[in-house]
This record gives sequence, C-alpha cells and structure tokens, in this order.
Amino acid sequence: MSDCIFCKIANGEIPSRTVYEDEDFRAFLDMGPAAKGHTLLVPKAHYANLFEMPDALLEKTGRTAKKVAAMLKEKLSAEGFNVVQNNGELAGQTVFHFHVHLIPRYTDDGQKIGWKPGKPTDAELDEVLAKLK
Ligand code: AMP
Ligand code: ZN
Repeated sequence: MSDCIFCKIANGEIPSRTVYEDEDFRAFLDMGPAAKGHTLLVPKAHYANLFEMPDALLEKTGRTAKKVAAMLKEKLSAEGFNVVQNNGELAGQTVFHFHVHLIPRYTDDGQKIGWKPGKPTDAELDEVLAKLK
C-alpha cells in the first residue's frame, strides 16, 4: 500500500520511535499517547483490520503483543495495562492498517479507557444470544 503511513513506518521508510522490531512486526511510540509509553504494534505487511489478518500472523501478534507489553510494563513500572484494537471508522479506527494499542497505565494518569455499560433486560440479552446460536 503505497499511501499507507503505517506501511511506511513499519518498513522503515518513515522514521519512528521504535521500541521493538522483528521480521514481521514493528512496535513504536504513539505520537498521541493515552499514557506514557503508549505503543503501537503493527505488522510489516498491510492488512486493513482484524478480519483481513491471516491466522498465522494473528497468532504471532498475540505472542508479540504480550512480549512488548511485558517489556513496557517492566521498564516503565506500569501498574496496569490496556490492550486496545479498533476496527472500522465507527469503532474509532483512524489508520486503516491493522494495529494493536499497548497502553501502560499508572496511578493518576488521568485516563479513562472503557465504555458506558448498557442495561439490557433479560429478554434483550436472550434475543442477542438467540441470534448468535
Ligand atoms: P486508531 O484510532 O486505532 O486507528 O489509532 C491510530 C493511532 O495512530 C492514534 O493513536 C494516533 O495517535 C497514532 N498515529 C497516527 N499517525 C502516527 C504516526 N505517524 N506516528 C505515531 N503514531 C501515529
Ligand atoms: Zn499499510
């Protein structure tokens, strides 16, 4: 993808603050961090989102996310950790090259990552379940 910013970063065409690299992935500091050490893990090959990712690469993504997250947590003395992955504009994806947000968390970091819990009735939950069976 010639016009994809994360392809260019992942493949070293555009410099980044890289914290980890191997043959398949690059992990670099997010320029708009939710908290200190917020890192993006991206595959070097272009896939727009989770659903386009090949299974073998996704398996590696999980292992690599754990390894990089553990390194960030230890070196930055994080007390908690969020792993976030957005798919589609509606879900907050702004760069359409698959990436995983690795977000170290600290006491008083002032950040709130989450959602407003719904209050479905039993019937509404059962209706969803029925659709999924
Ligand atoms: P998302 O909203 O899940 O697509 O996340 C995109 C993330 O990429 C945001 O957190 C941005 O701050 C980050 N970002 C976009 N461009 C760059 C860049 N050139 N270098 C570092 N981070 C970037
Ligand atoms: Zn790309």
